[in-house]
Amino acid sequence: MAGWPSLAPLVERAGRPLVIEALRTWVAEKRGSAEVADEAACATWCSARLAKFLQPSQRRVFNLTGTVLHTNLGRAVLAEEAIAAAVEAMRSPTTLEYDLEGGARGERDDHIAPWLCRLTGAEGSTAVNNNAAAVLLVLSELAAGREVIVSRGELIEIGGAFRIPDIMARAGCRLVEVGTTNRTHLKDYAAAIGPDTAAIMKVHPSNYAIQGFTKSVGAAELVPLAREKGVTLIEDLGSGTLADLETWGLPHEPTAREAVQSGVDVVTFSGDKLLGGPQAGLIVGRKPLIQRIASNPMKRALRLDKVRLAALEATLRLYADPARLAERLPTIRNLARPAAEIRAVAERLLPAVRGVLGERAQVGVVEVRGQIGSGALPVDLLPSFALAIRAKGIDRIADGFRALPIPVIGRIADATLHFDLRTLDDEAAFVAQLDRLDVVAG
Ligand SMILES: *Cc1c(COP(=O)(O)O)cnc(C)c1O
Repeated sequence: MAGWPSLAPLVERAGRPLVIEALRTWVAEKRGSAEVADEAACATWCSARLAKFLQPSQRRVFNLTGTVLHTNLGRAVLAEEAIAAAVEAMRSPTTLEYDLEGGARGERDDHIAPWLCRLTGAEGSTAVNNNAAAVLLVLSELAAGREVIVSRGELIEIGGAFRIPDIMARAGCRLVEVGTTNRTHLKDYAAAIGPDTAAIMKVHPSNYAIQGFTKSVGAAELVPLAREKGVTLIEDLGSGTLADLETWGLPHEPTAREAVQSGVDVVTFSGDKLLGGPQAGLIVGRKPLIQRIASNPMKRALRLDKVRLAALEATLRLYADPARLAERLPTIRNLARPAAEIRAVAERLLPAVRGVLGERAQVGVVEVRGQIGSGALPVDLLPSFALAIRAKGIDRIADGFRALPIPVIGRIADATLHFDLRTLDDEAAFVAQLDRLDVVAG
């Protein structure tokens, strides 16, 4: 069998081991049938099987869910400047931990720390694998074996098993809960501080909102109390941003600079949420505390590699020129995209989508509201436009779009498939593959 000439091109494409593995499976499945010796049938079958192996598992998709920073779809799309920097770092040796001037060992944080300090006003900064790691590292360096006070309204679960009480336990801290789910007062924090208190931690309630009879104490209000009692004030901003989102007509999200300015000692936030960079956990704050955090042995285990550091540095540099940010950073560009422009995209695409679905569905343009996602304001607030596809068996149609060469991911609500076009970055590619749409009748 291995000598069958029609298998040669498969070996060329996939390599011997995968072809032999496919052949073994063929034999096992067809054993005892006449077909097992049919060379043409076997080659076709193996070719289809190998195509699956050769296709990357992580693939590009069109995120038309209406959630700009979709965690399951990879969060932020990087700026061209960051992509170029990452590719260069991948391809060559770099000055990752090398000081060119002195010709000696350097620090990997030195590539990003000056930018983070400039952009947030902090004295010191460092970066790790992601924000969950940042919180874990900060707590374990500054509060292991001691107490950390957190409001009951902020004991969040982010998803992916990131729960504040669990992280506290892993960091070796004792969680002291204060207040109630809906209301926590300054006096609650004050009463909880004792000789064993290491820190007060504020957590941005990223993915939910408490409404109604509520009260929480802002970080700025906690600063005098923390100072007076000599405890460290930590704030986990979650998404946290380096730019004023109001500039682009968006609601206010807390900036890292505001947290630093208000006097918070250590602030943590993500690199791939609103910041629009690669996955990373950024830590800024008082220099002596940052130095301790950066020299904790866990920092070594959680550090960033040269590729992400290159992308992060390039992303941070874009923030030095806020006037051009919306042009250069896809996250801000998508968030700031005017509804009228999105509507125009929807109307341009309508005939093509209608054409390909024909009698099977009704397709129209509808007004929708999208989300920022990734824990920034967990409510639908971005006025947008979508293609709305209504049909019996809407799941089949959604399956068909997901099976396209560049899978199209939408959102189904009320038996209607919505494609929010805010984040469609390549209309031509979207249209070009529509004739491959195959909707199995259901
Ligand atoms: C998202 C988030 C985290 C986790 O950040 P990752 O970068 O995903 O690890 C932690 N805390 C808050 C408040 C968040 O919103």
